[in-house]
Amino acid sequence: MYLKCGLVEEAERVFNEMPERNVVSWTVMITGYGKHGLLSACSHSGLVEESREYFSILRGDCRIKPQVEHYACMVDLLGRAGCLKEAKELIHNMPLKPNIGIWQTLLSACRVHGEFEMGREVGDMLLELDGKNAVNYVMLSNIYADAGYWRESEKLRVSVKLKGLKKEGGCSWVEIDKEVHFFYNGDERHPLTKEIHKVLKEIERRIKEETGYPCEVRFALHDVEEESKAESLRYHSEKLAIGLALVHGGVEEGGRTIRVFKNLRVCGDCHEFIKGLSKVLKKVFVVRDANRFHKFEDGFCSCKDYW
Ligand SMILES: [Zn+2]
Ligand SMILES: [Zn+2]
Repeated sequence: MYLKCGLVEEAERVFNEMPERNVVSWTVMITGYGKHGLLSACSHSGLVEESREYFSILRGDCRIKPQVEHYACMVDLLGRAGCLKEAKELIHNMPLKPNIGIWQTLLSACRVHGEFEMGREVGDMLLELDGKNAVNYVMLSNIYADAGYWRESEKLRVSVKLKGLKKEGGCSWVEIDKEVHFFYNGDERHPLTKEIHKVLKEIERRIKEETGYPCEVRFALHDVEEESKAESLRYHSEKLAIGLALVHGGVEEGGRTIRVFKNLRVCGDCHEFIKGLSKVLKKVFVVRDANRFHKFEDGFCSCKDYW
C-alpha cells in the first residue's frame, strides 16, 4: 500500500521491521522500486550492454522463460538507445506473439530518432492490428507531420473523427483532508476553480521569472500523445490537481509533499512546469502516472526526463 501511494520511506520502514520476509515481500519491494525508477536503471541510463547480458542470461536459463514483458523492456531500451533495427529484429524473432504495446514502443522510438521509413511501416501495421485505437492514428500522424507530410498527417487525424474513435481522457486526482478530488483536462466543475486558476497563473509567472520556463526540451519517448495540442491550451488535469493542493495548503516554501495521481502519462509541458514549481516553492511533488512515479525536487525529476 505504501509503495502504491508513493511513500517509499514508509514502505522501507515496514519492510525492515518485518520479523520474517518471504518471496512475496521481496517481490513487492522490487516491483515498488521499479515503479519509482530506482531499478529500471538499465533502460533509463542507456546501459545497453549490461541489458543484453542480463537478457541473454534470462534466455539461457531453462528455468525462466522470457515473457512478453521482458521483450518489451528490451525493445524499450534498444529504442531509447537508437538501436532501432536491432529492436525490430528482436520483435520479429521473438518466440511469442508480440503485443500491441511492443509495436507502439518501437513506433515511439522511431519518432524520437526521426526514423521516418520504419515509423511508417510500423505505424501502418499497427493500424491493421489495432485499428480501433485512436492512439495509433495520432502517433503515426505525428510521424508524418515531423517529416513534413502534412496531408497524410491530417488525413489520419480526420479518420479518427470519422471513425468516431475516442481517446481516453486525461484524469488526475489529489487527496485533501481525506477526500479525493478528480479533475479532467480543462475541468471547471470544481467549486474552487477560480482560485485554482488564479494560483496557477501566479505561480506560472513566478516560474517564468525565476527559471525561464517554458524552455525547449526534446523529451524522450513521451510521445504516445494521449493528449492533443488543442487540449494542452487549457489546463491539463495534473496542473488543476496541483493547483487545488496549492490553494488548500498555500504557496509558502517547503511544507508537506504534494502527491498527485494521473491515469495517463504526464505530458512534457506539465513535467517541466512541476520541475519549475518544485524549485520555486522548495516543495516536493510526487506524481504517479500510468508508467511510473515522478519525484520532483529542487527543479529536477527522479525520472531524469525519461518516462
Ligand atoms: Zn500536461
Ligand atoms: Zn519525471
